[in-house]
Amino acid sequence: MKIKKFSCSQCGAPKINPYTLPYIICDFCGAFTDIDFSVGMEAWNKDPKRTNKYNQAKIHFENKLAEQLGKNDKAAYQETQYKYWDVYYDAFPEYLPPSINTDEKYSAYLEVCAISSTDAVFDPKWSAKAGEQALLQKAVTYDVVDGKTVANSDAFFKLAHFYIAYVKASFIDFYNQAKFSIMQEILPEDVHLKMKLSMFVQAWIPYLREEDVRQLLLLTNFNNEYIEVKQDNGNRQACQFCSKEIFVPNGSYKVNCEACHKINNVQIIFHCSSCGMENKTPDNPALPATCINCGTKNKLIKPELG
Ligand SMILES: [Zn+2]
Ligand SMILES: [Zn+2]
Ligand SMILES: [Zn+2]
Repeated sequence: MKIKKFSCSQCGAPKINPYTLPYIICDFCGAFTDIDFSVGMEAWNKDPKRTNKYNQAKIHFENKLAEQLGKNDKAAYQETQYKYWDVYYDAFPEYLPPSINTDEKYSAYLEVCAISSTDAVFDPKWSAKAGEQALLQKAVTYDVVDGKTVANSDAFFKLAHFYIAYVKASFIDFYNQAKFSIMQEILPEDVHLKMKLSMFVQAWIPYLREEDVRQLLLLTNFNNEYIEVKQDNGNRQACQFCSKEIFVPNGSYKVNCEACHKINNVQIIFHCSSCGMENKTPDNPALPATCINCGTKNKLIKPELG
């Protein structure tokens, strides 16, 4: 079986276990570290009926939002945004980040989605940008090539460059605000950025020339290479939550179960490399762990082990 080649942004380890959701969990430190754009795309294309139904609902929401924006009704706009995101994740549960695994976190996350989407159009700092983006989008003209409607390359890439820069800037602003602090825990900034960009890429791919698709994937870093899964250095054991078999690579501390999407703590102690004292594994094994006896900072995950 082939998977995309990833290395964990937290601990540097390679991805070992195959996955079924677009979200990539590190097999060594358990961090939610990346997304696989093509798996997201498969989910989008899996059931055209579902996607059509969602697109219909989206048009309804867009009309309603435009109306509420026209009336400058911020509260109603935010409420509609909340409902829209609920419909989105109801239609595509595969897209819900795995870290959002309780009803509480789900509502908190939708709240953040609704507030940030509302700020994006009501906060003058960002609404000017959104206006600029709308103009660039309007400037994209279309040609019919071999029966396929495709966007004009230059105009599209002007829009794409603008959008990427705009999203990056808004994320820096967003993650610095105290009211969004829950996001640090449920959706790390770099992964969230990839999610947002993947939605843009996904929406545009059907309207792009093949060459432009390639360029866009390069530009957004979604053009990962494939590698063969090598599950030889490690052992198989039962998931501590659902008992399905999981593969635990040697040197791993936390492994996500692809059946129940829960993270197994597979190594709860480590021995200090300097004095040999037994220590408890910290919550985040990607960070250096200080020995309780001698104070040595131990690097727990050695990426070359993978
Ligand atoms: Zn990791
Ligand atoms: Zn499980
Ligand atoms: Zn020690």
